[in-house]
Formats: sequence, structure tokens, C-alpha cells
Amino acid sequence: MTAKKPLPGELDPIETASRDEISALQLDRLKWSVRHTYDNVAPYRAKCEAKGVHPEDLKCLADLGKFPFMTKLDLRDNYPFGLFAVPRTKLARLHASSGTTGKSVVVGYTKNDIDNWANVVARSIRAAGGRAGDMVHVAYGYGMFTGGLGAHYGAERLGCVAVPMSGGQTEKQVQQIMDFKPEIIMVTPSYSLVIAEEFERLGIKPDEISLNVGIFGAEPWGEGMRHEIEKKLGIDAIDIYGLTEVMGPGVACECIETKDGPVIWEDHFYPEIIDPETGEVLPDGEEGELVFTSLTKEAFPVIRYRTRDLTRLLAPTARSFRRIGKITGRSDDMLIIRGVNVFPTQIEEQILRDARLAGNYQVVVTRDGHMDNLEVRCELQRELSGKLPPAEIQQIGKELQHRIKTIIGVSTMITVMEFEAIPRTQVGKAKRVLDERPTQN
Ligand code: ADP
Repeated sequence: MTAKKPLPGELDPIETASRDEISALQLDRLKWSVRHTYDNVAPYRAKCEAKGVHPEDLKCLADLGKFPFMTKLDLRDNYPFGLFAVPRTKLARLHASSGTTGKSVVVGYTKNDIDNWANVVARSIRAAGGRAGDMVHVAYGYGMFTGGLGAHYGAERLGCVAVPMSGGQTEKQVQQIMDFKPEIIMVTPSYSLVIAEEFERLGIKPDEISLNVGIFGAEPWGEGMRHEIEKKLGIDAIDIYGLTEVMGPGVACECIETKDGPVIWEDHFYPEIIDPETGEVLPDGEEGELVFTSLTKEAFPVIRYRTRDLTRLLAPTARSFRRIGKITGRSDDMLIIRGVNVFPTQIEEQILRDARLAGNYQVVVTRDGHMDNLEVRCELQRELSGKLPPAEIQQIGKELQHRIKTIIGVSTMITVMEFEAIPRTQVGKAKRVLDERPTQN
């Protein structure tokens, strides 16, 4: 059985260090990282010069606010290797982002980077309740995507048995879970539901499944989805966060004893929240865009990298590091429907408030003249599918429409479909939004 609370001595000392100790380590590492990037990444040095800042100006953590941001555009402009800080001979691996939004970006790792990454993912699995000897079924995609290999190296580092299943082949996933009896699964939340549905289809009950813990990330998911997954698989569902540009999965991970938002491994990644419009640094607790500075990365350091993820920095709880709140969405994921800002996760939350509806959904945006229309497609739970009278299905749709209107403030057309009517994503991230509006120039 997987332990829940860490025993004394099980954590890295820095996970329980004082804020002063953490800040001192961060400042040391930050000075190194800014200097390393400035000296070795010409486009970044040019940005600093244009802004009139120099690594010597960094005397305290708050001084970081004087330095220029890095954005996805910098990565694209310098594709593929223009922002690397080490010569090619020092690289151990390349990865690329899955390209959820636009062209993919390429990142590199030295041997030390891979080592640090394995350590933070191992720490993440431990935070999720995993221990040496546990078997970890990795159903994130392997390949250029950071999910599969990132999870894999972390599992091995913790002393777990890594099962490199990758995504897809759902029937085989289920067969293998039944045969090998892993304690832990690492996968996107949307694909975990597909796997859960296959268990249901086979009539396998949650208590017959060996899994205790699922570590889910790579896409936004809310509390409603957490309950849905926990119920269907009979596990604790833990949130892991990361992005290719900063490292991959394992930049932050929730602790099983609190499940209150991913703890940022602040000894490797320094977080800031900024106002996405003005770039001004916001105090902890305020919602804005998450920005990361890598503190130890050699091959592909990032200084004030704008993630476009919208969230808040929360005070420490289970560890000494700060946490991030749920990612409400990416700033570029936000739909503006008749002037109202809408994130797919808000819609997900309202769908899952009705126990008769399943977790798979799609949001379709179309344009009628100058008006944007929002259609929400959702599905009945398997056990109700094909069994409800049309009047009840209509009523479910009406209630959902009402909740979305009163809580999010936008009018929608709701289509309640039979179970499995919406296509499932087996590999990579779920496609929640279909934007069918003509492209604007
Ligand atoms: P891409 O940018 O092509 O999607 P990545 O795989 O690097 O490539 O995706 C990283 C992004 O995935 C993050 O910036 C964030 O938007 C999203 N993401 C990752 N983990 C989570 C999580 N736990 N919750 C919400 N969003 C997440």
C-alpha cells in the first residue's frame, strides 16, 4: 500500500527549509542563471542591453523584475537552437513542445539537466504518495513530447518500476494494468477518463483495479474532473504541472496529504505572477500570468519566461515552497464570446456538477454574421446512455445552459449526446475547443 504522509527524513531537506534558506539559495542560483544566460545566449544579451540591465544589477530577488521577459516568440525566432547556452557537444537530449498552440519549439538538456529533471519528477511522484518499489504505468506519450520520458526518468530515479506504455491502444493499457498491477499511473487527465471508460465497459469495478494514485497533467482540469477520475478509477488524483520550455512535467506537483494545488519546486524554478497587460509583478495571491526563471538549467536556461498560464501563487502548506492555484487556462486559450471571457475549464466545472453527465466535452465556437455562438457538447454517463427519455435529456441541457448563463455569464446552445459520441484523444492533449469562426485578419 502506498504511504500517504512522508515520514521524517524522507523529503529533501530543502522541501522543509525556512523561507530565508530558500531565498538565499534562490538568489545564489538566480545570479548564476542570469549570468550564464547573458554570457552564452546572444539574443538574450541583446534584450538586456536594449533594456539597459546587466547581471550585476541583480542584488536581491526583487531585482529580477528589471530584466526583460522571454516569450514563445523568442523561441520561434531563434528556432531551433538559437537560445541554447551550451555547444551542441554538451547536449544529452532534445525535446519539443507538442505544439498545442502554433509551431513547436525545441529545447535541449545537458546530462546535469536530465539529472535535475529526474530528481524533481522523483520528488513529484513521492509527493503524490509514490515510493521506491511502486510500479508506475506511464501512459503519457513518449517521443519529442516531454511527458513520457520525463515521467519515466523520475519514476526510475525514485526507485520505482517504470512501465513505458506510452499513449494509445486503450484495450492494451487496461489489459496490462490488470496483469501487471501497477500502483501508480501517469497520464493526461482526459486520457485517464478514456482508460476508466474501458474498465467500465469491461465491467471491472474500481476496487478491482490495482492503482492507488494517478498523477495527471499536461492540460487544465478542475475539481469536478478530479472527483470524476477518483470515483471511476478508485484512486487519489494528483495534479502535476510543467512545460517544455521550463523543463517538462515536474516543475510543480501536488502533495497527496493536502491536494491543494501543485507545489513549485522553487529550488529549481523561480516563479512570478505578472499582469499580462502591463508586465508588472503582482503580489502573491493575485491572479495573473505565471512567469518562470530556471535556476539550475545549463542547456536551455529561461529568464522570466512568460508561460501564458493564468493562475495565482499560494502560500506554502505541505512543503515550504509556494503552490500554484488551478490553472484557469492559457491566456491564448481564452475565448471571448460576445465580450465575455470564457475558459473551457469553467464550462467543464459546470458540466461535472451534474452527476448524470460524463467528463468528456467539447466547446464549438461558430459565427453567425457578427455574433459568436457557443455550443457545448457533452455526454451522458455510460449507465444512463440510451436509457433516458428525451424530456429528461432536454431538461439536463436546460439546467446546464442555465448554470453556464448565471455563473459564467454567457449564453450557450447545449447538445447532450449519448456516451462516447465525442471523439476521444488517445495520444497527447484533449482537443476541447473547436473554433469554427472564419479567421480574422
Ligand atoms: P504545448 O505548449 O505545445 O502544449 P507542453 O507540453 O510543454 O506543450 O505544454 C505545457 C502547457 O500545458 C502548460 O503551459 C500548461 O498550459 C499546460 N499544462 C501542463 N500541466 C498542466 C496542469 N497540471 N494543469 C493545467 N495545465 C497544464
